[in-house]
Amino acid sequence: MATRMILGAIRKRSVSTLVIAEHEGGTIKAPSVSAVAAAKSLSDDSSISLLLAGSGPSLHEAASHAASCHPSVSQANPLLTNKFKNPLAEPWAKLVHLVQQSGGYSHIIAASNSFGKNVIPRAAALLDVSPITDVTGISESHTFVRPIYAGNALSTVRYTGANPCVLTIRSTSFPVPQKSVDSKVDQAPISQVDLSTFDEDHDKSRYISHTSQDSERPDLGNARIVITGGRALKSAENFKMIEKLANKLGAAVGATRAAVDAGFVPNDLQVGQTGKIVAPELYMAFGVSGAIQHLAGMRDSKVIVAVNKDADAPIFQVADYGLVGDLFEVIPELLEKLPEK
Ligand code: FAD
Repeated sequence: MATRMILGAIRKRSVSTLVIAEHEGGTIKAPSVSAVAAAKSLSDDSSISLLLAGSGPSLHEAASHAASCHPSVSQANPLLTNKFKNPLAEPWAKLVHLVQQSGGYSHIIAASNSFGKNVIPRAAALLDVSPITDVTGISESHTFVRPIYAGNALSTVRYTGANPCVLTIRSTSFPVPQKSVDSKVDQAPISQVDLSTFDEDHDKSRYISHTSQDSERPDLGNARIVITGGRALKSAENFKMIEKLANKLGAAVGATRAAVDAGFVPNDLQVGQTGKIVAPELYMAFGVSGAIQHLAGMRDSKVIVAVNKDADAPIFQVADYGLVGDLFEVIPELLEKLPEK
């Protein structure tokens, strides 16, 4: 019954978007809220449905949060399903396919993070459409801007394929105005996805376990401040200086691929073309040369500070503040002079 009401609302509008939403602890995760912001910018008159999956009470709390997670969403239609506790890409892609068949959405959007990048290409293949990835700008409902050549050029692409137009968006390009979040809106209708015809079987992947780090540090993708170390740190032991500095500033820790490959830190801290894309208010790079693949992941940061002992290091070309110096002198001095958090 509820599903039929939603479909009725959708057919009146030219743009109806299904946002693939991740949630944690009863709230919609920030990258998915950015995906809602992107969905909103497709058209003033767009209707937005969030596809949420999981189990337990937190799923229902997240469904309530879905309606108020973005200030411009006056009504969201979270579709709920209690299956899909574990984020395996294959069944999720099938779920998106199933929901699209009944919902007839014009657009499907997910954040360009590891979850979205895993699910969206598979879902697009099932739907027989070409996805447009890493969108950073939306000019109108079928025209998008996306970076190419490791962020050195921007291309404008127009989607001329069949519905749905399937996108991943860079969450750093669709920020959510902080103070308006959680503003009161009407409770959205909640509909359950009918999974009676859903075949959950797949043999491509298997859930084994989930680990998350218990850290007070902010998440790298959403942090206001990021402190990054490069190969110049020389060892995992020395890299702890970066972590101490991050703790003092309430910042997230980032690393270059060279630092990750050398085993100083795990690869989920890598910033860059093949790592995370970040755009914090302050990005501090210590002993980072500024290779284009690294810049691709941080050049949109508001203020960039670089410390490098080579005055010709390319990082200085994107830095707002540069210090030519030895990080083994600069970081201890900063640690000494900065007040405790
Ligand atoms: P280096 O290039 O070795 O630079 C070290 C810097 O530290 C130098 O500038 C040096 O002057 C400075 N230095 C040395 N000692 C000190 C000191 N005591 N004090 C201060 N400064 C000092 N890289 C990424 O980071 N992210 C990616 O996502 C990524 N993706 C890639 C994808 C592809 C397909 C390829 C080919 C490469 C990718 N890379 C990526 C690797 C990238 O090209 C660089 O090799 C890497 O970013 C270099 O890391 P680095 O700056 O730590 O090391």
